[in-house]
Amino acid sequence: ELPLIKGKVEFKDVVFEYEEGERILKNVSFSVNPGETIALVGATGSGKTTIVSLLSRFYDVSTGKIEIDGVDISTVTIPSLRKQMGVMLQDPFIFSGTIMDNIRYGRLDATDEEVIAAAKAVQAHQFISGLADGYQTEVNERGTRLSTGQRQLISFARALLADPKILILDEATSSIDTETELALQKGLETLLAGRTSFIIAHRLSTIQNANRILVIDKGKIIEEGSHNEL
Ligand code: ATP
Repeated sequence: ELPLIKGKVEFKDVVFEYEEGERILKNVSFSVNPGETIALVGATGSGKTTIVSLLSRFYDVSTGKIEIDGVDISTVTIPSLRKQMGVMLQDPFIFSGTIMDNIRYGRLDATDEEVIAAAKAVQAHQFISGLADGYQTEVNERGTRLSTGQRQLISFARALLADPKILILDEATSSIDTETELALQKGLETLLAGRTSFIIAHRLSTIQNANRILVIDKGKIIEEGSHNEL
């Protein structure tokens, strides 16, 4: 079991290959302090997704190690690790049910008030309350269609409610209307506060606001620093 973490993350000479002999990550090392926001940038195929996949143990490192608060993550159970981590994909997982249920996913004990408070905090409340049935709106293939930006707002509310110490976000690349974009930007600020966060960043505002940017190229970190430094 991974004990309750503060959120320090260290990659130590991490090498990874999906297929033997094909090194996708080549001696990746970096250290992140609790609460820091790290933006991962780099060309398609450079290894950004692979880095965050290793952190949540969708795969295990080939050599080297990843430590959280000094604990080698390969020595802890996957559920105890993932419980303390929130993962938000580009196209967030939405299941058939109400918006309320979709936000509550992962914190089934949360009250309606807690769900609404989380949605308000990440700027999702405005669009939800604009829907005919509000939080009771049924979403599925046949029900209301949500835009990518709206799905991402729901995933922000979900993550805030679950309150993990480490966050992983793959920012949406598809075009998002200005209003939703603004909500996402503000919502993200609230969500990031007090958590160690890794964002595969596509928006300039996210990159500018990150404490540090890791520039990945062909499986290596080629530059590291704040937006002003780079
Ligand atoms: P993108 O911005 O397109 O998401 P990325 O920087 O996240 O790219 P990765 O998805 O980490 O890049 O991929 C890094 C390399 O690993 C690529 O060459 C890719 O083809 C390869 N790769 C990714 N997933 C697998 C897999 N499951 N099996 C084999 N190779 C893979």
